[in-house]
Amino acid sequence: MILPGATLGLLGGGQLGRMFAMAARNMGYGVTVLDPDPHSPAAEFATGHLNTAYTHPESLRELAGSCAAVTTEFENAPAEALVELAAHTIVRPAGAAVSVAQDRRAEKAFFGQNGFPVGPHAVLAGMTDVDAALKSVRLPALLKTARFGYDGKGQARIDTPEQLAEIFRSWQEVPCVLEEFLPLEREVSVILARSASDEVVLFPIAENQHRNGILDLTIAPARIDDALAAKARDIATRLARALGYVGVLAVEFFVLADGRLYINEIAPRPHNSGHYTIDACRTSQFEQQVRALCDLPLADASQHSPAVMVNLLGDIWLGPTEAPDWGVVLKHPGAHLHLYGKREARPGRKMGHITVCDDHLDRALAIALDIKRGLGIP
Ligand code: AMP
Repeated sequence: MILPGATLGLLGGGQLGRMFAMAARNMGYGVTVLDPDPHSPAAEFATGHLNTAYTHPESLRELAGSCAAVTTEFENAPAEALVELAAHTIVRPAGAAVSVAQDRRAEKAFFGQNGFPVGPHAVLAGMTDVDAALKSVRLPALLKTARFGYDGKGQARIDTPEQLAEIFRSWQEVPCVLEEFLPLEREVSVILARSASDEVVLFPIAENQHRNGILDLTIAPARIDDALAAKARDIATRLARALGYVGVLAVEFFVLADGRLYINEIAPRPHNSGHYTIDACRTSQFEQQVRALCDLPLADASQHSPAVMVNLLGDIWLGPTEAPDWGVVLKHPGAHLHLYGKREARPGRKMGHITVCDDHLDRALAIALDIKRGLGIP
């Protein structure tokens, strides 16, 4: 066990790292952040900031030398940096598990090989794959770049065969995955923690609504029946074990109207849809991340209050540095405001979130929708 007093390393310094750092500092750990942004949101709460590129050899050496264990907080943290760090210190999750989640081809192949349910899809490595892809995937479909896509970036809707060829060519034939466009009834996510000794603790399932490919709202617990919830929990648990995963893992699911459940993707870290756990669960996903990293016993992840989380994107800022009127949020005694300390707002940029807690989920949702209206969120 790595006990408080030790320093933990963090590859990436965004909002997820910020909330990890807050949890770790609360528990008495030091935190060193490696992030090229001099205004990294996580660095504000860290005890040290290595302000260089993620692969900078000296920074990696220093991180490995000064930290009892290292974790990551963002999807595209170079897996090779994690592998390099693992030669000198404890790294959780392992670079190999992170690299599966970083590439839609590897991710889909892993799901298929292990019998996890995934929707119809095809891999495109070059123009010669276009015809075969159109034979196995019905249109409309979504073309997604295999790597470096997040929040709906690197994605295009495909309605005709011509469009597929045209868009794939305009993307310089970077490796892609073509996915059938599924009639979604709902999207849900399971966030869990797995320890090195194979203890698995799951948070209540979250129900997620997206706008323009970006998470807009999370309702927790998800409004799904017990059988479906049990199936999602079982898949997520088996998946974490099959991947040999240690740390906090998010598994995103598509629910179809006929009850079918497909995995959309996995995230090797705490997840935006788990932010509600800070205010509504006995332990937050970030404290659980600290515990899994340090091999402490995992804590009680049960929910004490129904909750609705609303993402705050830069779109509602009145100017790059001019925040909206928070009175709209703060007047509600059950609404908790979280801001990530980002200096400049931009459209689509995640600036913060709100979690509304209430004894009744319906009431939490009504208040959340009222706040959304008040802030001008469509
Ligand atoms: P992703 O970044 O792949 O998670 O996609 C962002 C969002 O786009 C998802 O949360 C869904 O709302 C939507 N989406 C992605 N893939 C599909 C699909 N195959 N069928 C229907 N909707 C999708």
